[in-house]
Amino acid sequence: MSEPPEYVGRFAPSPTGPLHFGSLLAAVASRLEAHCQGGRWLLRIEDIDPPRERPGATRRILEALERYGFEWDGPVIYQSRSETSHRAALERLLAAGLAYPCGCSRRDLLDAPAGPLGRVYPGTCRTGSNASEFAIRVRTDDSQTDFVDRLQGAQNQRLESESGDFVVLRRDGLIAYQLAVVVDDYEQGVTDVVRGIDLMDSTPRQIWLQRLLGYPTPSYAHIPVATNAAGIKLSKNTGAPAVSMEAVAPTLIAALKALRQAPPDTLAGAGTRAIWDWSLAHWNLHKLDGYLQLKPGNHATATSKNGLS
Ligand code: GLU
Repeated sequence: MSEPPEYVGRFAPSPTGPLHFGSLLAAVASRLEAHCQGGRWLLRIEDIDPPRERPGATRRILEALERYGFEWDGPVIYQSRSETSHRAALERLLAAGLAYPCGCSRRDLLDAPAGPLGRVYPGTCRTGSNASEFAIRVRTDDSQTDFVDRLQGAQNQRLESESGDFVVLRRDGLIAYQLAVVVDDYEQGVTDVVRGIDLMDSTPRQIWLQRLLGYPTPSYAHIPVATNAAGIKLSKNTGAPAVSMEAVAPTLIAALKALRQAPPDTLAGAGTRAIWDWSLAHWNLHKLDGYLQLKPGNHATATSKNGLS
């Protein structure tokens, strides 16, 4: 009997802003889960969207991760260096007739029906387009694409009616996130994805691509997102501040509390090394079961799926 594959996890920040508390939670959870399972934890900088990148963000993210005492396995991986693989996957989809050029502009799609993920692409260019500027979309159908999230339970989407055929090569010529992440997770042998719940509705599209490309589907655990006091998700888009480079130990403890790990008060005065040692000995992902939203700092309420705290 063959051995099950070794656990390989990853943290994959985009350098579109500094490391904020929400991304710190994803980093802490993905690292602890990987290392507590005896696995490897990769760090991949998703630097394939230059228009959205902020100068110096990669350096700042790496400095923050080092300052917080993260230890990743192997060298830092830069997604931009895998472009040949991304383009080869795109060519395979095109050659198999699974993807097609779409000349529709954003404006052309303004009248498309609204779905849970935004405008649902109505399939305008499925039978051909002779536009000179185009994106590439992957064909979908309306079967259920489902998976069981380790924390959030059974999930499913009908892609054709909920998102429509989706973009794998953008009109500006850049590879879309959905395709790049799937190719990289596969090529880097990632078996387990632990990331923020804001990405959960992308997962069925990623599973769809994995199936078309003949890749195995990793296991997924989507952790609650951190929100600010107003209940707004902490993200680079909402201008979430960078994690402190001074109050490192207290911020790490706040992250563990937000992840419902209940670190003892005695850790409050400890250094980062002691905090990691405690965390590696006590980590339990399932303390987050079913929680959708947490506020930073743990004074917070967590809302479970069925609305009970
Ligand atoms: N690069 C994405 C982000 O920073 C995360 C990708 C992923 O974890 O799949 O939001």
